[in-house]
Order: sequence, then structure tokens, then C-alpha cells
Amino acid sequence: MQRTTQAERAALALDGGTPVRARLLPYARQSIGPTEVEAVVAALGSDWLTTGPRVGEFEQRFAEATGARHAVAVSSGTAALHVAMAALELREGDEVLVPALTFAASANAALYVGARPVFVDVDPGTLLVDPLDAARKLGPRTRALVAVDYAGQTCDYAVLQSFCAASGLELVSDACHALGALDELGRVGTLARLNTFSLHPAKHITSAEGGVVTTADGELASRLRTLRNHGIDTDLAQRERTGAHHYDVARLGWNYRLTDLQCALGSAQLAHLEEFVARRAHLATRYAQALERHELVRPLRRRPGAGHAWHLYVVQLELERLRADRDRIFRALRAEGIGVQVHYRPLPLHSLYRERLGTRAGDCPVAEAAYQRLLSLPLFPGMSDADQDDVLHALDKVLEAYRA
Ligand SMILES: *Cc1c(COP(=O)(O)O)cnc(C)c1O
Repeated sequence: MQRTTQAERAALALDGGTPVRARLLPYARQSIGPTEVEAVVAALGSDWLTTGPRVGEFEQRFAEATGARHAVAVSSGTAALHVAMAALELREGDEVLVPALTFAASANAALYVGARPVFVDVDPGTLLVDPLDAARKLGPRTRALVAVDYAGQTCDYAVLQSFCAASGLELVSDACHALGALDELGRVGTLARLNTFSLHPAKHITSAEGGVVTTADGELASRLRTLRNHGIDTDLAQRERTGAHHYDVARLGWNYRLTDLQCALGSAQLAHLEEFVARRAHLATRYAQALERHELVRPLRRRPGAGHAWHLYVVQLELERLRADRDRIFRALRAEGIGVQVHYRPLPLHSLYRERLGTRAGDCPVAEAAYQRLLSLPLFPGMSDADQDDVLHALDKVLEAYRA
């Protein structure tokens, strides 16, 4: 890293200087092309806006893309986690191990079924769930573990699978960051009993809102289909085909259906999945080349054998060498037109879990320490190399300004 003198340094946009970019570069953005537009328009003119043939088509394609036997489409990643918990028949009194560093939905799914999330700390290098801490948090009521492939890097499923098998736990993969990743054990979507995905626009492919659960277990798959449709044993299209009006509400379910419009969009997006992941990997490699030996930021450690779908490019600030905290650097980068983000404020610190579960600061010290340093840099397939050079330029400009 070249040292510049005070005089040579451009004034930070935060201090009234010229920003690196006039318009904010977002941290994530969907890529929608003409095939997506055509597919949605065709669905709009078809007989079925929801519960039609495009749902099954999308599920079939999603199963093929992930190598999973069954894929069940639902209305969001959150709904995917909820029906996964319900399909496993988790209930009040049960405990579910959830990493501290994830999106709230990973833990809320347990609360939706009356179970109690128990937060597990993460590894300081990868920020993936720490199996040793999971073992420490294991109790007589623990029924399941939610593994989160943080930033897109796969957890150590070999270790988690044997831990869960030895402890009688169900393993659920919250793979919302990792669609398209290939772990040494197999493709994401096949690594746990139930695997959940989000189709939010910030994720690898989108249906505007949407989610998917994959499983190799046919019985679980049909339970998931029932749960997403009010707990009804057949759907409208099936009844239309057989001419029967009779149906049975077999269990308590929800309306978590994904519409044909969304499935049309999802299928068109799936055709680009490999290309999108390859583009993300290309940008990640460029970030790594620029930042691997940087004195002021540290990219996440790569886990040997892990797959990576590069949902996020996360760095940790070397605060010991800086005169500013993360929030100041966050604001300075935003002022430069770089849409950095923070993934995530550890869940035990949020009011909901403090009030409901009695969590508090100090519960997951590694996640809390990492949180002080975290920054996610912009990363999405439609970002150009020149956009990325702006990010790196702004990062250097800001970090050098605050070098201790
Ligand atoms: C995005 C995300 C979810 C929730 O997905 P939605 O589709 O927004 O409901 C759950 N878990 C993780 C880790 C996510 O990143």
C-alpha cells in the first residue's frame, strides 16, 4: 500500500470533498434481462396466475440446479425456514441452535413454531457457526441446528452432520447466501435434511420475493407442500384435474404459495445462475487480490474444502491501526458513493431476543467482537470491474485518511 502525505490526500466526501462516485453503488442488485420480462408477461396472459404449471416447472429446474431430489417453492426465504421447522414438527419446549451472526429469520423460524432459538458463536476467521460452541450450547431439549452458509461459504457439513447424528438433532441448512455453491461434500441444497433458500433481489437469483426448500426425503417434501397451502392435502390444480371438490385440512398450514408470475421470473433467472455465480467469483477474486495483504482490512478466511457462492464480500477492519471506528468508516464510504453494508448485528443483542429469551452482550463474544469490524463491500453480477475499482479506490481513500 502506497503511503500518501496529508497534502496529497483527497479530502473525504464526508468532510466536504468530492465523492468517488456521484451516485451510490448499491451493495447488491438484481440482474433482470429480456428473457425474464418475456417470461413474466407470458405468465400474466396465461390461465394460471398462481397454483399453475409454472410452479412445478420452477421446482423441477431448481431441483436440477441444486442436485436435490425435491424442491418446494414458497413465498419467501423466511417462509422456507418456517415450513422447514414445522415439517420437522418442532414445537414449544424445543430448542434450536442458531448462529449469532445471521439474519433474524434464521432464528425467528424457531419462534414461529414455539421453539426457542439458542445462539451459537462463530469462528473468528470464517464467521461460520462454531461446532465446539454448538456442543457447549447443547441441552436435553435441543432438537435442531440451523447452519448458515455465511456470505456464501459453506459450513463444515461433515462435522455438523456427525455432530447432529451423534446428538439426535435435525440439521437444517439456511443456504440463503449459498445458492450455486459446490462444497466438497456436494452441491448446496443436498448437504442437510432440509435446505432453505431465498429469492429476494439481493440474493443469487430472484422472484422479487420467494423461497425454496430442498430435501431428499419425499415424505418431508409432501409435508412441506401441504404446509405452504393451509395444510390442505391437495391443491386447486389437482382437484381441477380429478373433478373433485373434496379436500382435507390435514394440519395447520399457511398461505406461503409462490405465484406463477414469480415462478416464471425464477425459472428465467435460474438459467443465469451459473453465469451469475461465476461473475461473483470473478469479482471476489479481484477483491481478494487487492485486499489479501492489506494492512487495514482483512477478508474472511476461506475454509478448505468449502464451496462458495459469494453472496457477500465481507472484510473485517484492523481497528488497531485506524483512528476511526467501523461506523465512521461506514459513513465515510457511503459519502463516497459506495453502498457498504453490515452483515449482521449479532442476534443476541437485538431487543426481541433480549426480552423474549434473556440474551445479552457477552453471550457470543466472537460474533460481537467481529461485529465491531464488519463491512460488506458491494458485490453483484451486474457490477463492472470499473465499479469495483471505485470501491477499492474509495476504500483506500477512506482507510488512509484514518490510518493511525
Ligand atoms: C435473505 C435471508 C433470509 C430470509 O429470506 P427472505 O426471502 O428475505 O425472507 C433468511 N436467512 C438468511 C441467512 C438470509 O440471508
